[in-house]
Amino acid sequence: MRFSTLFSKTTKSAPADEVAQSAQLLIRAGYINKEMAGVYAYLPLGLRVIENIKQIVREEMNVIGGHEMLMSALQPKEVWEITKRWDDDVVDVWFKSKLKSGTEVGFGWSHEEPITQMMKRFLTSYKDYPAYVYQFQTKLRNELRAKSGILRGREFMMKDLYSYDVDESRHLAFYERVKEAYMNVFRRVGIGDKTFITFAAGGAFTKYSHEFQTITDVGEDWIYVNAEKGVAINEEVYTEAALTELGVSKDEMRKVRTAEVGNIFNFGTAKCDDMQLYARGPSGENVSVYLGSYGIGISRLVGVVAEMFSDEKGLVWPKSIAPFQVHIVGLDLHDAQAREQAEAVYKKLSHHLPNKVLYDDRADVRAGAKFADADLIGCPVRVVVSKKTGEQVELKHRTQSESAHHSLEECVRIIGEH
Ligand code: ATP
Ligand code: MG
Repeated sequence: MRFSTLFSKTTKSAPADEVAQSAQLLIRAGYINKEMAGVYAYLPLGLRVIENIKQIVREEMNVIGGHEMLMSALQPKEVWEITKRWDDDVVDVWFKSKLKSGTEVGFGWSHEEPITQMMKRFLTSYKDYPAYVYQFQTKLRNELRAKSGILRGREFMMKDLYSYDVDESRHLAFYERVKEAYMNVFRRVGIGDKTFITFAAGGAFTKYSHEFQTITDVGEDWIYVNAEKGVAINEEVYTEAALTELGVSKDEMRKVRTAEVGNIFNFGTAKCDDMQLYARGPSGENVSVYLGSYGIGISRLVGVVAEMFSDEKGLVWPKSIAPFQVHIVGLDLHDAQAREQAEAVYKKLSHHLPNKVLYDDRADVRAGAKFADADLIGCPVRVVVSKKTGEQVELKHRTQSESAHHSLEECVRIIGEH
């Protein structure tokens, strides 16, 4: 992509009412635009990061047998009334509206009820199980506070997976596979070593749900963690009983600030019983259905990674989700030979890394400003082409301060290995 064609511009400052550091950086670097409190637009750079994360999640969901689909954001009130979750006293984040006819509708803050309702049409025989479905959906939640930028949006991107099964042990085994798949996701986006599977409140069947909590000062949660034993407990359920059950004692737990990047629930058969989703058994009898519900905050992840991987100059994306792998800085572009050289480097690198190269082809921007933009945008590798570099290029990793001159071939090899 040519920088000159990007409409989004980098800026020195963020809106005064944006207090979250990750959102400030993402706004300044041209990844997102603040529409209003808790509501953000994803610009070309930001959308690339979102799509890269989605692709990683998609791969991990497909490995465990998930089928991707897309539910509607507009939801009928009736399905939520069945489980009493239409009530604003039960669910305090509803956005609701009315059709012209007066019929009430809700904006999806979650999808357990509508998906389960839909499954009544399809999952009729016990032979239809298990079924694993997931989607990437814009959820709408009327959050009370939205001070954490994209970490807590009123409109945000979630991946939600739902599992339906008639066999309890297979249901529980799948729940464990999701845990592994989720940790794979968090490792691949670069936060695996800071993310803990955490005992938390919720879950109708088991006493706990499992949250995936990532250590970061900008999080809104507190958990107690013992990294050696791999045990983490949310402060909401941090009791003597919980400690005993998990085989740890108070003095070996450390209290840390975290952001919840994922949450998985085992509903047992309670939800499907409520919704009257039953399977027809071998002799025509009703068989209860187990439900698991599994969420990852895709857009929250962008904020968490931006927060964790940044320095005073800007963002420092892990290679796996960076908008581009290489940021070419072309200098002296008014000089015909330098321009030709830069174009050739762009062509060659794009050939090896299709759609992964950003080329700063702006002729009228000074070198200092271009370098500052490259640091702010935070692609893993910067390649400088100028009158001075001649037949070679100057290569620098975003995480390092030293740069080195290489032939273009050498450069291709280094980027491939990086
Ligand atoms: P929180 O406790 O942060 O309000 P939650 O427990 O209500 O989150 P879930 O219903 O478990 O959230 O949603 C699944 C995942 O979606 C969460 O683990 C989180 O990563 C993400 N998420 C939830 N609410 C938001 C939000 N307002 N903005 C961005 N991401 C969110
Ligand atoms: Mg949660």
